[in-house]
Amino acid sequence: MFEISKAIIQSKINNFMQKLNISSHGIYTELYDGLKNGSPAYSKGLYFLGVYMGGIFISKDIALHILELTEEEFDFIIAHELSHIVLQHYPTSIILELPNVILTSIKEDWAKITKLSIDLIRLMLILKGSLPPKENIKKNQEIEADIQAVYLTYNKVSAMSCLRKLAKGNIFCGSHHSKIFNTDFPILYFNERISAIEQLQL
Ligand SMILES: [Zn+2]
Repeated sequence: MFEISKAIIQSKINNFMQKLNISSHGIYTELYDGLKNGSPAYSKGLYFLGVYMGGIFISKDIALHILELTEEEFDFIIAHELSHIVLQHYPTSIILELPNVILTSIKEDWAKITKLSIDLIRLMLILKGSLPPKENIKKNQEIEADIQAVYLTYNKVSAMSCLRKLAKGNIFCGSHHSKIFNTDFPILYFNERISAIEQLQL
């Protein structure tokens, strides 16, 4: 088992940033207990005033949630989270969530009805087998982060084995979900992520 510490993760982040020819940045790391929204890792960050800044948050117990995790697979997870920041995904996510946040904060009936109508349209699209615009952007962001992470780690095999381990043996289960009427609907499946990586020409 390899060691997981803030210092080690920070040096991995710095190495990846060097590969992107970015010598100075404000991306730090924090460890947390258990899972956060069911996830063993997540990131938040953006490019602002000429500097990439943000945080990469990793569960201290990541090796308990992804059994037999190797250091190369762990590198893929860090590179994936870093790629979300470098590819500027977070500001887009905030903008996409804004209408929902505003509608939820308004207590009047018209806002509740509008929110219900939007959810109904989203549900109908998902049941028809297509994705609503917000979910489609989210799905593309995840695939983009996987691809960028493989370019950073230069290791397709470990990226794919990491995703198989995350899927806990069922690659046809959902990797990311969207909440509609308080129910989680899969918007991206592990097999889709694995085949996108498989097709990459390094
Ligand atoms: Zn991601």
